[in-house]
Amino acid sequence: TAEDHRPHVVLLASPGAGHLIPMAELARRLADHHGVAPTLATLAGLSDRATDAAVLSSLPASVATASIGSTAALVPDFFCAAALSVADEVGVPGYIFFPTSITALCLMRRTVELHDDFAAAGEQRALPDPLELPGGVSLRTAEFPEAFRDSTAPVYGQLVETGRQYRGAAGFLANSFYELEPAAVEDSKKAAEKGTFPPAYPVGPFVRSSSDEPGESACLEWLDLQPAGSVVFVSFGSAGVLSVEQTRELAAGLELSGHRFLWVVRMPSLNDAHRNGGHDEDPLAWLPDGFLERTSGRGLAIAAWAPQVRVLSHPATAAFVSHCGWNSTLESVATGVPMIAWPLYAEQKMNTVILTEVAGVALRPVAHGGDGGVVSRKEVAAAVKELMDPGEKGSAARRRARELQAAAAARAWSPDGASRRALEEVAGKWKNAVREDR
Ligand code: UDP
Repeated sequence: TAEDHRPHVVLLASPGAGHLIPMAELARRLADHHGVAPTLATLAGLSDRATDAAVLSSLPASVATASIGSTAALVPDFFCAAALSVADEVGVPGYIFFPTSITALCLMRRTVELHDDFAAAGEQRALPDPLELPGGVSLRTAEFPEAFRDSTAPVYGQLVETGRQYRGAAGFLANSFYELEPAAVEDSKKAAEKGTFPPAYPVGPFVRSSSDEPGESACLEWLDLQPAGSVVFVSFGSAGVLSVEQTRELAAGLELSGHRFLWVVRMPSLNDAHRNGGHDEDPLAWLPDGFLERTSGRGLAIAAWAPQVRVLSHPATAAFVSHCGWNSTLESVATGVPMIAWPLYAEQKMNTVILTEVAGVALRPVAHGGDGGVVSRKEVAAAVKELMDPGEKGSAARRRARELQAAAAARAWSPDGASRRALEEVAGKWKNAVREDR
């Protein structure tokens, strides 16, 4: 079929003929007269089936319809908390899908609580520095996700508003599991028991299976040729960017370590002085002179996307230098690969604290000149060696990675694992709601 270039709009009808009939007409006109591709969604369980069918069957083929049958719940992602009011409106429970840590959820709860306490007194208060979170996690302001750092910024106000919307949720489906952050899970359980915040169900980790990724790739072929447990995988997620200087130090550090590596190299951030050098498009051109030749055979640098779960699952992969995005974190934990934490933005610094201080599966090289400074080649090489020719800390991280991998497997994938049972608890509520409706 030819690609449809029409803008797509989703129309969500509330129950009742008086709502559906005019909305169906709107959808028809958008399609017929205005070059728009509409999908008209109805919440079948809440409205009269015969009416819906009569109205929908009269629509032309240019209007797509989606009947959301026996609606028991709505599950918006945590950035779409406003959709909770839709759930409320149509009378179904809203569960927030929380794709990051339960520690982050505790931070969110603490922010809202603090704000409400002080707002009652007409004051604005920033989170304390450091902030003590469950499990002895002590977070400095610089380690908060950006939006939490400045209580006078407009984005902070939105954050508080989102946190308040969360209170209207029936619960959170959290992409985490007990052993990864036990104290945070316990802490949210207590808040739910007190009724101050909805319950968080740790139902993860949700990690793509490696068979969902393409099996053919230059890096997998290369990994097949490497000895078991010999390769350091280096990748900073879908958006992580290093400076030119940091890219070169990282390269020099990998070279200095003497270990094998597979590096997904991203275009560094360029300032005016770097531009017009002729290689504004090729990330590999920013590596130090002769680096690729000198490391040829033991290192592979690629400029494209790597099938990350396959790479992490590969027997040759032994360590992961990661920006600690939560998905990368869970993928590493699920495959039992210890990490070198290199957080860049969003909640990655907080994830790093969880990984180093709570879970104990990661080492963190120190940047000179503090946060935002450069991690030197010596630091990079030392961290790689600590994990690969394991020293005391490296051995501990490797052991913890194996333990957490086993826990993740038992939690998430075994039929009576806690994550699976938590999800069943929620699904059970949804099934009961539908039964009562019939
Ligand atoms: N990813 C991948 N290949 C790459 C880079 C990233 O498959 O070369 C995948 C990775 O496996 C993860 C996701 O992209 O599932 C990145 O999510 P994460 O939360 O780790 O970081 P973000 O990109 O959101 O910063």
